[in-house]
Amino acid sequence: MSQTRRISLRENQPHPRYTVWELTLRCDQFCTHCGSRAGDARDTELSLDEALDVVDQLAAMGTKDVVLIGGEAYLHEGFLDIVRALKAAGIRPMMTTGGVGVTPQLARGMADAGIVQVSVSVDGLETAHDLIRGSKGSFQAAIRALKVMHEAGIPIAANTNLNRVNRSDLEPLFALLAELGIAAWQVQITVPLGRAADRPQMILQPYDLVELVPRIAAIKEAAFSQGITVMPGNNLGYFGPEEALLRSLYEGGSDHWGGCMAGRYVMGIESDGAVKGCPSLQTSSYVGGNLKQSSMQEIWDTSPKLAFTRTRTVDDLWGFCQTCPFASTCMAGCSFTAHALFGRPGNNPYCHFRARTLAKQGKRERLVARTEASGLPFDCGDFALVLEDWGHDEPFQGGHFLPEERFDLEEKTFPETPEGQKKKLAYLVRKLASTKKQSACQTCPAHS
Ligand code: SF4
Ligand code: SF4
Repeated sequence: MSQTRRISLRENQPHPRYTVWELTLRCDQFCTHCGSRAGDARDTELSLDEALDVVDQLAAMGTKDVVLIGGEAYLHEGFLDIVRALKAAGIRPMMTTGGVGVTPQLARGMADAGIVQVSVSVDGLETAHDLIRGSKGSFQAAIRALKVMHEAGIPIAANTNLNRVNRSDLEPLFALLAELGIAAWQVQITVPLGRAADRPQMILQPYDLVELVPRIAAIKEAAFSQGITVMPGNNLGYFGPEEALLRSLYEGGSDHWGGCMAGRYVMGIESDGAVKGCPSLQTSSYVGGNLKQSSMQEIWDTSPKLAFTRTRTVDDLWGFCQTCPFASTCMAGCSFTAHALFGRPGNNPYCHFRARTLAKQGKRERLVARTEASGLPFDCGDFALVLEDWGHDEPFQGGHFLPEERFDLEEKTFPETPEGQKKKLAYLVRKLASTKKQSACQTCPAHS
């Protein structure tokens, strides 16, 4: 009697099971933390015909899930046709959006085309979200998008970029999103990539995880009873006491972080056809080929830029990560995050285990911006890592925060001198981040 094979052999071979596809770089917002510096379309974006050919290639390679992103995916002329084609090819089409242009009519069109889930980016309560997104009204637009898609019968989810501007909003934000009917919430940390690389004062310091990860775990535990799955993003790690809770899809699960899947089961496509192992990887270092010149299969099979996670070992790690007991499983966490800090993967200070280990010794790691990013999509600067005692004063890091010409949030005035702008920035960040922030020192295990 023949038996049904439960896991096909193909499933165990590297293949782009989960693909994130930037349909266009065109965007209707100008977010201060946007990794791709979205706004205008790229010069040579894939046409609808080329995109439909990409759908066929994805299906042939065994892709199961495609997340459409931008810019704003709905600004691509063939957006709904592409959703329909994915669905017809047996691929689950999903989408991540800021939601500004999601009307009831578009939501019904998306539902009819077969979209299976849409995640709306909500980066804090109204003040923080509008500040980060660089436009007043952006928060209300995101909430409206969640409502109209819910009404259209689309399963809705939310995702949040966590940083020093919005970290105090986590709990009330979850309560609000739960009320709106989300099925899932992903929380990832803002990485200094693209426009966020221009704002180093915005990003979390590694030791902030000592306070933040237990808060996210507590929210996740509570969310189970409401039928909501809270998941940490791939760059929010790793191996702290709450690891199983944080990484498991179901209550009581025992999952754990299994290493970066870029180029193994994950693939990213940029809107001009450039292919990377993960959509967030730096364009300058990780593009393995372009779909206008080569087939997807050829790029996947032959480019070393996609294959770097398939063959690496602990010997490729460095710094603290190379000495870590979880190194052979973890492989230093998220590759694009480590690269955004130090210009290569293999050492990642955004790690709960690492921050707790150092905290128990009365130490912490602080990132200090060293070189600026070039100003291109998915670019990054460079950071130095300072090991210091807890409680050290944190010096100001440079960089502007507000896109002043588009968003006049504050009435308080500061002189237009570098010193005045520095004070303004410090004022804004303090104001937004202070409300319900717990002192990291109170929660640090070194002081327990
Ligand atoms: S220290 Fe590095 S290798 Fe160890 S768990 Fe953290 S990120 Fe992973
Ligand atoms: S680079 Fe980070 S986000 Fe991309 S696949 Fe690897 S772990 Fe995931």
